[in-house]
Amino acid sequence: MSRRGMPMPRRGRMQMRRAPRGYGRGQPQKKRSFFGPRFWIGAGLIGFAFLSYQCSTEYNPVTGEEQHIAMAPQQEIALGMKAVPEMVQQYGGLYPDQEAQALVDRIGNKVVQESDAADTGWQFDFHLLADPRTVNAFALPGGPIFITTALLQRLETEGQLAGVLGHEVGHVVARHSAQRMAKQQLTQGITGAVLVAAGGGGGEAQLAMMIGNMVNMKYGREDELQSDYLGVRFMSQAGYDPRALIGVMRILDEAAGGQAPPEFLSTHPSAPNRVATIEAAIDEVYPGGVPDGMVP
Ligand SMILES: [Zn+2]
Repeated sequence: MSRRGMPMPRRGRMQMRRAPRGYGRGQPQKKRSFFGPRFWIGAGLIGFAFLSYQCSTEYNPVTGEEQHIAMAPQQEIALGMKAVPEMVQQYGGLYPDQEAQALVDRIGNKVVQESDAADTGWQFDFHLLADPRTVNAFALPGGPIFITTALLQRLETEGQLAGVLGHEVGHVVARHSAQRMAKQQLTQGITGAVLVAAGGGGGEAQLAMMIGNMVNMKYGREDELQSDYLGVRFMSQAGYDPRALIGVMRILDEAAGGQAPPEFLSTHPSAPNRVATIEAAIDEVYPGGVPDGMVP
């Protein structure tokens, strides 16, 4: 019974692969000019992909940037909320200790309510995950934020927790997921166009796909540095000493030194690079030095 749903996607995938192959098979005898109809169709598709990407521009008042986003905030919130149960399940469920969860809630909400993140309308919600081995924290589009007990137990101060959560709040506020999705749509548009121009499969299409992936990866790294910057800003506004985030980088580095690198680090730029970004952000927020009396 449960297999009924299975053949559907498989059949869909086969059709997609077969279509360009059949299309190309009809004309191998004729020698095609490079600037034939396929080229112009491909060029038109690339133009269209770029045009729709450029048209979906929105101003983000917190980051002060023009962003390319192809979905409404409400869609983004719905998307993130839908993925919460799956994330919780993947990381061994929620941590049963209510006191620890309350600590994460208290500090997370303070970082949100006492910073520029307060007026954004995103539905922030903090979840402590039971996973005792994976050192990680992450955010879903629209507001859900997660931290594993493996990471929480390594943290030494409230300020460090504020730094981790502030970094994740930064991902949400800067709408990194939605921007990446818009970029993926652009990449898929270009890849499709190159496939048409090349007359089906082949090296060019693979090359286009590889370039597309590389572009997306690079943006991912910039997103991380921007989130470090926003994390410094939000935690400082909430009264936490931003230098605590440098301590988090050391802790993550030590965690990575053991066996497999934690996910929080493996997709992130190298630690020295991030510490430099954090220090620059601290200088920007406090040009005269970090004031006394902030929560470490
Ligand atoms: Zn991050």
